[in-house]
Amino acid sequence: MSNIINLNATTQLAAIIENSEDAMICITTEGIIVSWNLAAMKIYGHTEKETLGKHISIIIPPSLMEEEENILSAIKAGQKVDTFETIRLTKSGALVPVSLAISPLRDNEGAVVGALEIARDISIQQQTEKKVALLASIVDSSWDTIVSKTLDGIITSWNKSAERMFGYSEAEAIGKHISLIIPADRLDEENMIISRIRSGLKVDHFETLRKTKTGRLINISLTVSPIRDKSGKIIGASKIARDITEQVETREKLEQYTKKLEQINNYKDEFISMASHELKTPITSINGYLQLLERNMKAGPQVLFLKKASQQVSKLMSLISDLLDISKIQSGRLSLNLTRFNLCELLRETVETVQQTSTFHTLQLEAEDGLWLIADKQRLEQVVINLLTNSIKYSPESPQIFIKGRKEGGNILVSVQDFGIGIPPEKQKKIFDRFYRVEGLEYTYSGLGLGLYISNEIIAQHQGKMWVQSELEKGSTFFVQLKAVQ
Ligand code: ADP
Repeated sequence: MSNIINLNATTQLAAIIENSEDAMICITTEGIIVSWNLAAMKIYGHTEKETLGKHISIIIPPSLMEEEENILSAIKAGQKVDTFETIRLTKSGALVPVSLAISPLRDNEGAVVGALEIARDISIQQQTEKKVALLASIVDSSWDTIVSKTLDGIITSWNKSAERMFGYSEAEAIGKHISLIIPADRLDEENMIISRIRSGLKVDHFETLRKTKTGRLINISLTVSPIRDKSGKIIGASKIARDITEQVETREKLEQYTKKLEQINNYKDEFISMASHELKTPITSINGYLQLLERNMKAGPQVLFLKKASQQVSKLMSLISDLLDISKIQSGRLSLNLTRFNLCELLRETVETVQQTSTFHTLQLEAEDGLWLIADKQRLEQVVINLLTNSIKYSPESPQIFIKGRKEGGNILVSVQDFGIGIPPEKQKKIFDRFYRVEGLEYTYSGLGLGLYISNEIIAQHQGKMWVQSELEKGSTFFVQLKAVQ
């Protein structure tokens, strides 16, 4: 009976040895291999046949022979050898890191007859350890604060930057609850973050406040991601925090400056509005008196002086009315007095009036009849006058100016073309901006840079469009498009 049990035990032992993941080799005290399992073949490459009866040195790198001899003598002396890590040589000549456990084999009398060497291939484990060490050093040397915690908020890692940012050392932080760095009035945030993490979601660039060891509050931007185990289960969260105190301060300053700038801008608009109003009354009465004088003055040199004074006053009046328009546009008070009229007539009258201001230029009008629209007549006249006076002003050497008015689909298209100085392409959009003048021209041509801005606003209020086509030193064509009516 006991024989059967023994036999079974031996069979079981043999099966365990054969199926083991670890290499199991029995050697004599002289180092001769007497047994060699399947795992030994997998790790070292040699078959059982190739190794039985051979010396163990076939799997030992020459530089480590001494280590093996020391082990053998320890075994012979009946001493135990603690598990240690070493290197073994494979059949192909490659080196494999192993963790080795050696125990003496004794005969029935207890005498040491050999040793059992159990080796585990630790190359994968070593690679993983290296990777982990590398990652740990990256995390540690990162300028970003990287902290991890469990789903219960217990801090599990704390890098150097976290130490710098919050003032707590790694030893002080690990094991503590994350509320260590959360201001009391923001504790709710942690629940929100954790509930997102639990459902597998990230928290991205969340701007908040955190508290340092000294109680100072710092502005940070937080990115929190779930940490999963091998099976994909969420087991914690990793936080990356960036100190954005400076950024927040700069942003706040910028907001303050913008507010101030808006305020100054408002003051400026208010001033322009008030000044132009105040200027309008005296200038209108000066104009009236000048006209009275002109009418009553007999011929003589004074008449010429009066005319010149009148012309200057007119210029001043048009500047003041431009300024008044600006403040109306700014405050949304530019109201339109809409009527139905024929633009063709307005063009004819305006061209005639403006023609009188220049003897050098010829304004040639070509307009279809029946250009009916519903618009503010006075405001459209203002736009046309602006375009015509500009085309005269900016073409001092080219006398030809063409004005066209025609229907195009459901629209009316007016164009004013000159062959003057033209506008460089990069400036063409800007000329419709407030106070914009093409640089370099300021001293040659007088103006405030308001006419086109006001014209554009007037046309936009009519739901129309205004644009320019121009080539430097060849001339410009300004277009106005408005909706036609029957
Ligand atoms: P201002 O003529 O008073 O400067 P505008 O708003 O009417 O103001 O025009 C803005 C700018 O656009 C002008 O300063 C000028 O540089 C440019 N500009 C306008 N019309 C013409 C044109 N017909 N030819 C060339 N440049 C022009």
